[in-house]
Amino acid sequence: MPTFPRIVSVLLPQPLPEPFDYELPEGMTAPPGSFVVVPLGPREMIGVVWAERGVPSNRKLKAVTEVIAPAPPLPANMRAFIERAAKYVVSPTGNLLAMAMRSREALEEAPMEQLLIATGDRPERMTPAREKVLAEAGAPLSQADLARAADVSSGVVKALVEAGALQVVERTLDPPFDPPDPGAPIHDLTPDQTVAAEALRKLVRELAFRVALLDGVTGSGKTEVYFEAIAEALREDPEAQILVLLPEIALTQAVTSRFEERFGVAPAEWHSAAGSKARRRVWREVAAGRARIVVGARSALFLPYRKLRLIVVDEEHDQSYKQEEGVIYHARDLAVMRAQIEACAIILASATPSLETLQNAASGRYTHLRLSARPGVSRLPEIKLADLRDNPPETNRWIGPELSTAIEETLAAKEQALLFLNRRGYAPLVLCRACGERLKAPDTDSWLTEHRYSGKLICHLTGFTMDKPLACPNCGAKGSLAGVGPGVERLAEEVHTRFKGARVEVLSSDTVASPESLRELIMRMEGGAIDILIGTQIVAKGHNFPALTLVGVVDADAGLRGGDLRAGERTFQLLLQVAGRAGRADKPGRAIIQTYAPESPAVALLAAGDRDAFVAHEMEQRRAIGFPPFGRLGAVILAAGSSEQANEWASAFGAAAPNAPGVEVWGPAPAPITVLRGRHRRRFLVRADRNVDLSAFLATWKARVKLPPSVRVAIDVEPYSFM
Ligand code: ADP
Repeated sequence: MPTFPRIVSVLLPQPLPEPFDYELPEGMTAPPGSFVVVPLGPREMIGVVWAERGVPSNRKLKAVTEVIAPAPPLPANMRAFIERAAKYVVSPTGNLLAMAMRSREALEEAPMEQLLIATGDRPERMTPAREKVLAEAGAPLSQADLARAADVSSGVVKALVEAGALQVVERTLDPPFDPPDPGAPIHDLTPDQTVAAEALRKLVRELAFRVALLDGVTGSGKTEVYFEAIAEALREDPEAQILVLLPEIALTQAVTSRFEERFGVAPAEWHSAAGSKARRRVWREVAAGRARIVVGARSALFLPYRKLRLIVVDEEHDQSYKQEEGVIYHARDLAVMRAQIEACAIILASATPSLETLQNAASGRYTHLRLSARPGVSRLPEIKLADLRDNPPETNRWIGPELSTAIEETLAAKEQALLFLNRRGYAPLVLCRACGERLKAPDTDSWLTEHRYSGKLICHLTGFTMDKPLACPNCGAKGSLAGVGPGVERLAEEVHTRFKGARVEVLSSDTVASPESLRELIMRMEGGAIDILIGTQIVAKGHNFPALTLVGVVDADAGLRGGDLRAGERTFQLLLQVAGRAGRADKPGRAIIQTYAPESPAVALLAAGDRDAFVAHEMEQRRAIGFPPFGRLGAVILAAGSSEQANEWASAFGAAAPNAPGVEVWGPAPAPITVLRGRHRRRFLVRADRNVDLSAFLATWKARVKLPPSVRVAIDVEPYSFM
């Protein structure tokens, strides 16, 4: 009987839309999902068998070089997820596979270390040094550690191995994660919590795609409630895996210790700041099904779970779930997609859910569970607007009289204050007083921010950094450059002069370079070693400061200026979250919100504490123009080497837009950041009715134009940034 070559198609983690065919050499088996090494041009590359092809090919195909045996095959659900996600975000499938292959070393056999342990046999010749070694060798130790512990040379240890008194044992360098214990709740749940927890347990038991919105103010006990859903998943299935997504790495520290308290073991942590060793271990353990609870940033969504039974997206409204570089995607949206493919439950938790999620809840697609009471706290902080039009701060000062008095009162009561200003550095703009020049990065349309602590001017978009020049680069005037407007460093200067003797610290991504320094600062604040903490949005999240009773929002209008679609929504969410930091324990808190626009709905309804009214107002605005959640949006961004080239190709691209019912295309227009890293940018905005497959529309459009390699196109489905 003639034997036909067996053909497999192999997807490579490259910007390629389709897998390539390879021949399987005789005797080699590689079912779909297998990790294989294949030749590609002059190189060898690792890819994943995507499908088996029964049909013999006439073409001469290259052969698969090797199957990476230690790596368990990528599960079918994971492959389905990669494919569907790629279609949705309009990106080559290979790019999404690359996100699932973040740890190359994880595919290899787990590395072992060799340790020594006493055999129980005594050597014929005994010396005091040998006695010391054997006394230390009751538990496995490396040769070096054993010699150190016994304070002898390594020769003594070696001789004992030869004499049979010590033996070598092997141990993996990537120890498995211990199984979590479903246990029992730490607190007696409140009636609200009990109802929500029971509803979630039920959803988990249904073993089907179910979405729940867990909605309750900060501190209402949402975490405690979703812990019960996790416990149920663990109880129901001894192999269940649970993924908990968090928006910020800074948050994982605080949350992981709560997991440990509740489930007896630390969860597996996954985020970009983790070292390659930690990533290798987590990836392999997830693939093997032994990492049962995974807590991570958005990229944890791309781990190869074997049996995902529950996903939790905490702070589901948070912007940082949107990845803006490389593959542009929203982790919350893809998490819902993943839950659908896995046929499992997903919980979206937030104190200020996104309008998209609220709309899904309103239409009955998501189960809406509300927690109203706040365990341990009598009430939410009182929120008061300080109208700066009536009582402005002095010139070149940013704290108005009302906030100033409140800070004094707080200090007098030996309590803590938090001042929120979402601007890093000293001044967001540097201006020449002689010629009016505003300093920009050389290749990017964005103002440079003055940083006094480091003495630099920094572009926050690209990271471009320069020393502050002595003379204006435009007119040459000396000493004419002045920082305009406040950043947290300048606010700290004002606070130091106003509140003498107060212990003041600044928390921004510039002042806490590492997770450790962040933790230290948080501990100083918790321990009462700081009186006034000044911070950017990192302070808004997750921290619990028992003696914090005053939150001052220095500039509530900042996020509303130059506003995009979500400016109001975002401002409302952020300010409510910041305000919620005040008064968590038994002390009542208050928030003072400085504004020049007290009548704007986001600010006015925040002060009124009326989230539902704000949501209704925003929904109405969006509905009127058919914007999300009542329609879909897509953005297309072209970037070219020169302005002329950008114009030329943008108009060619625009002319190629398909005609489709229910779809409107606006543009091209110069992007607000017209030049970024030397590339000239043009944008299109696409609005579509809800029933339109916008991803397919965008993919068709993109395929119609063959752009030269020097012109790049980025597609952003459901854009959050309009820059
Ligand atoms: P959220 O996730 O909504 O911000 P958490 O679950 O973190 O709320 O709860 C806020 C605080 O209240 C935590 O310190 C938590 O331990 C505590 N807590 C939650 N539920 C209860 C309860 N039923 N009884 C007592 N304390 C609780």
